[in-house]
Amino acid sequence: MTRKNYDQMILERVEKSFDLIIPISAVIAVFSSYIVSKSDQRSNFVYYDLIICLFLIGVYLLRRKIKIHTKIIIVALVTTILGTASLIQSGFSGTGVILIALSNLVIVSFLSKKMGYYYTGISILVFSLPPILLKANIIGYEGTIAYLLNNPSEWFLHIVAYLLFGLVMVVSINAIKDYLLENINEGKIHSDQLTQLAYYDSLTGIINKHRFVADMNKNKVEQGWVVLLSIRGLNLINSIYGSDVGDNVIKHVAKQLALSSKEGELVAKSGGNEFIWYSRSYDSDVMMNRLLILLENIHASAETIDMPAKFNLNIGFAGIDEPYENIARIIQKSSIALEQSKSSKGASITRYDLELENEFRTEEELRRFLLKGIENNEFYISYQEKRDCVEERVVGLEALARWQSPELGTVSPSSFIPVIEKASLSQTFGNMIIRKVLDEYSILESKYGVGIMISINISPVHLSSDEFSSFIIKETLSRNINPESIILEITEDSLIEDFEGISETLFTLRKVGYRISLDDFGTGYSSLSYLSRLGFDELKIDRSFVQMIGKDDRTINLVRAIINLKDTYGIDIVAEGVETVDQSEVLKMLGCNVHQGFLFSKPKPIELPLKS
Ligand code: C2E
Ligand code: MG
Ligand code: MG
Repeated sequence: MTRKNYDQMILERVEKSFDLIIPISAVIAVFSSYIVSKSDQRSNFVYYDLIICLFLIGVYLLRRKIKIHTKIIIVALVTTILGTASLIQSGFSGTGVILIALSNLVIVSFLSKKMGYYYTGISILVFSLPPILLKANIIGYEGTIAYLLNNPSEWFLHIVAYLLFGLVMVVSINAIKDYLLENINEGKIHSDQLTQLAYYDSLTGIINKHRFVADMNKNKVEQGWVVLLSIRGLNLINSIYGSDVGDNVIKHVAKQLALSSKEGELVAKSGGNEFIWYSRSYDSDVMMNRLLILLENIHASAETIDMPAKFNLNIGFAGIDEPYENIARIIQKSSIALEQSKSSKGASITRYDLELENEFRTEEELRRFLLKGIENNEFYISYQEKRDCVEERVVGLEALARWQSPELGTVSPSSFIPVIEKASLSQTFGNMIIRKVLDEYSILESKYGVGIMISINISPVHLSSDEFSSFIIKETLSRNINPESIILEITEDSLIEDFEGISETLFTLRKVGYRISLDDFGTGYSSLSYLSRLGFDELKIDRSFVQMIGKDDRTINLVRAIINLKDTYGIDIVAEGVETVDQSEVLKMLGCNVHQGFLFSKPKPIELPLKS
């Protein structure tokens, strides 16, 4: 706040009081005129007081038309004139000094610093004028006070005293005003800083979610879209390139978002790696188009500024369906869309719809039951045999998780495994399954023979966790089970996420003796390069190929090509989902002898030995 604004603020505050003081002063003037007329011979003052009274009444009547500055100057002038008159009439002993000092005080307190100094100067001049004029015999003193007649030092002393008083007053009042102003400004700086902290993001300088919500509510938005954008893999960028690069990525996205947004739109940072954008676009196609252009701009400009890290965005957006729709609800909708977008691979843009939300709610419910299920031990293992169709014997078993939920009944792994992965429960769940299988291994050995091969499915997230190899090694060895009897089935997804990390884990595990199987071969990326680089022990032809045998001749060629990898890479080939004798025969003919499928065995839990 400037001094000018501050003085103006004071004026605004005193205006009401002034409007009250003026009529009161008018009444006092009438009263004073009455008293003077009764008790004093100085009849001039009767007229002065009456004139002043009329004048003040005039000012009061015109108070709405007259500015406060003018009113103060009028009051000050009136008191000064009266004071001077009194001074001439009665010297220093009259009310003149008080009146002049008062007018000075009013000006200095309520008008600007400059005005205060000018006025003080003028009043000092005015104050010194009568004695000078008297001394020079220009005006005459008609009073009866002796010292005023022929005592120059008395005059001088009074003038100096007033001069000092005027100066002290103008300096101290201005110092107090400056000090108060400084405090106000300091307080404002603090409150600005607090506002900055409370409503702005310190890294990007854009508003935060609180402010976004407040502004959305204030603006009473009636239509448009709320978009949530999340930077994918920011944690990885921070750990690989350092947090400075991560910060630059955030700033870069914020800048591009700000550039894309138009007047009346809002961009805010809603979380560590998340932005929220209110867009006024009317049509969903237009909105989609803007998002595509935004993504393109973000990536194109990242290249020009030589950003070392590659990053992607997940975007979810929801429309404002009805005017003044609850903003919290719209954000919730966009975040459902964002979650959906996050669950897909790579960058993606998802628009909210009710079906999506219902799916989410079902998934959320499933997640809750899953947590409870893990806690309450509602899972068990079913085993499916792998049969060598030439030697006519069971060569191994695949452990498949089963969930018997009291609320939902029997739930298939294809429904609950994806939810487990999304809910970050892969490790807890995976460890539980590994323990269960290893606990039952001795029973399987007693049924299928010592050293029977047992396959366990390992989810990509579980496999890439740091503790995975140490956990499984510890659990296996503590039960005196030979790691060579255990096959870990992994899918190609595991390799895509973190090839280097996974290959290291697999290398360690193979060295200890575990066998590694590539499950569902043919459904993923099926890159042959990692087959040679990683050294698998087994490859499982996906059920979808097996089931096309006899229906599509091209599939036979593909299956044949996969089976031939047996010789190229020296790995065992297992066919999954064999349901018919024909499929089994064709597979045998093509050179694949180990089959797993309903034809030979459905997955079933082990029969526990009867307790004696
Ligand atoms: P998968 O590892 O490919 O397991 C084979 C799936 O094919 C099993 O389904 C099995 O019951 C089914 N199957 C076997 N033979 C036939 C057949 O002849 N016809 C048909 N139609 N299906 C057959 P399931 O048990 O429903 O498991 C589905 C998937 O869930 C598994 O596919 C595996 O990827 C995952 N899964 C199962 N248990 C676990 C587990 O403990 N951990 C992890 N991470 N994933 C698991
Ligand atoms: Mg499997
Ligand atoms: Mg499979």
